[in-house]
Amino acid sequence: MAEPGIIRKLDENVVNRIAAGEIVQRPANALKELIENSLDANATNIIITVKAGGLKYLQIQDNGTGIRHDNLDIVCERFTTSKLQQYEDLQEISTYGFRGEALASISYISHLTILTKTAADKCAYKASYENGKLKGPIKACAGNNGTQITVEDLFYNVLARKKSLRSATEEYSHIMEVVGGYAIHNSHVGFTLKKFGENTDIKTSIKSTVVENIRILKLFFLKLDPRNVDVNVHPTKHEVQFLYEEQIIDKIKSCIEAKLLSCNSSRVMYTQA
Ligand code: ADP
Ligand code: MG
Repeated sequence: MAEPGIIRKLDENVVNRIAAGEIVQRPANALKELIENSLDANATNIIITVKAGGLKYLQIQDNGTGIRHDNLDIVCERFTTSKLQQYEDLQEISTYGFRGEALASISYISHLTILTKTAADKCAYKASYENGKLKGPIKACAGNNGTQITVEDLFYNVLARKKSLRSATEEYSHIMEVVGGYAIHNSHVGFTLKKFGENTDIKTSIKSTVVENIRILKLFFLKLDPRNVDVNVHPTKHEVQFLYEEQIIDKIKSCIEAKLLSCNSSRVMYTQA
C-alpha cells in the first residue's frame, strides 16, 4: 500500500496564481474588471488600446478619480479595496467591485503598470507590479487626472493557458463584445476601443443615448422583467435562462415585422418617365 502524502500549506504565490487563473481566463475577463474599476471611479471617458487580442498588451485610460499616492503600495494586494469596509456594506453597495481581487489577480499573471493622478495631486505617479507587490519605486511623472492601467504579456507565467489562447482575432472579438456591452449600458460614458496604431473600432460619445449607442454598435438588447429571468444558471451570469422564451421570440418577430412593414408603406418609388 502507498503511504499517505504529507499535507503542507501551499505557498501564497501559488495560491494566488491559481485563484488568478480562475478569475481571468482570457484577456476579455481582465478588461471587464478594468472597465468596471474605471466606471466605479466615476470616469466619463474610457480609452482602450489592444495589441494581439490583449495577450501582448491591454491598456485602459480613464478620467476618473485616480488612486491616492499613499495607496499605490497596497492597491494590487489581494483583498484590498476602497469600496467595502464591513460585511453589512454589501447590502447597499452600488459599485461593480468590492472584493479587491481583480488588480491582484491580473498582477499575478501579467506585467501590470499603473499611471494615476488625482485632482488634488500636482503630478501623476507610475508604479509597476508583480505578484501583488510593487516592483521598484513609485515614480513621479506627467499625466492627466485619472488612471491608466497597462497589462502586458498576460499569462506569460501560465503556459497552458497561453497555449490554449492562440487566436488574437478571437480574443479581440471577445474584447469587442465586452466593450460594446458596457458602452450601451453606460451611455453617459464615452468609450473608445482600438488596436494599437490602427483606427478605432468602437467609439461612443459622452453625450450619446442608449439608442444611439445600439445603432453605433449594431447590437440589440432586451429589457425584461427580472422575475422572468433565471440568473442562477451560470456563475458569472454569462448565460441566463429566459422564462417564456417562445413568447419573447414571437414578440421580437412581431416588432421587427411591424417595423419592416411601416418602412415599406413609406418607401418612395421612382419611375422612369
Ligand atoms: P475592487 O474593485 O473589488 O475594489 P480591484 O482589485 O478591482 O478591487 O481594485 C482595487 C482598488 O483599486 C479599488 O477598490 C479602487 O480603490 C482602486 N482602483 C482600481 N482601478 C481604479 C481606477 N481605474 N480608478 C480609480 N481607482 C481604481
Ligand atoms: Mg474591481
